Amino acid sequence: YNNRLQKHEKMEIISELAASVAHEVRNPLQVTRGFLQLLSKRAENSEKTYMNLALVELDRASDIITDFLTFAKPQLDDIKVLNLSEEFKHIVGILAPMAHLQGGEIRLHIPEHLYIRGNSAKFKQAFVNIIKNSIEALEREGLIEIQARTERETIIVHVRDNGQGMEDEELSRLGEPYFSSKTKGTGLGLMVTFRIIEVMQGKIEFKSEKGIGTEAIIRFPSVAIDSE
Ligand code: ADP
Ligand code: MG
Repeated sequence: YNNRLQKHEKMEIISELAASVAHEVRNPLQVTRGFLQLLSKRAENSEKTYMNLALVELDRASDIITDFLTFAKPQLDDIKVLNLSEEFKHIVGILAPMAHLQGGEIRLHIPEHLYIRGNSAKFKQAFVNIIKNSIEALEREGLIEIQARTERETIIVHVRDNGQGMEDEELSRLGEPYFSSKTKGTGLGLMVTFRIIEVMQGKIEFKSEKGIGTEAIIRFPSVAIDSE
């Protein structure tokens, strides 16, 4: 008789715990933010400086939760057959306003009836982190294109942007925890993405050219479904 937990059971418990913590922590962060903003309106100049610093730190805490747990629900992971087109419609619905704020646009070209196996929340988290980076890299006339196609038993997704691009040195450090070129970056987004894609038996690679743009190429094993 062996009552030690299996490794995947431990992972499930950790991920469920993390999701509950995210839910519980997000609300007090928002409430605190609101009160601080209120107070800073009537504060003296010297106090205002501290309050603004506190706001920046609160936002940082909330960014960390966003990179890890945007869609996390406090319930055990359920693995399902995901319809790629449906998943991406949801993701783009969430991110399009953010792209518009940057003066950019997201174009989706995903054929119907492409299926992969995975957890919908995790899948969305992985792609939100990729696409959010593309949005943050956009310059004038920004465009992000998301395409998918099948090659034998593999589904290949391309996320291409015409943003600022990366040097080779930057490219080789992607996914490294805390690696960020942004003043307000967490450096956790792609680490989370890489891990999720690995767990889904997928593969991810990046191509990029400074001043031209970046392309993420993600491969998943496809799931065959009879449409009858
Ligand atoms: P963060 O976005 O918080 O900086 P990430 O792990 O999401 O952390 O990304 C790490 C770094 O990779 C970014 O700071 C940026 O330098 C680079 N990067 C990722 N995606 C892109 C992209 N599409 N265009 C340009 N740079 C990118
Ligand atoms: Mg990021």
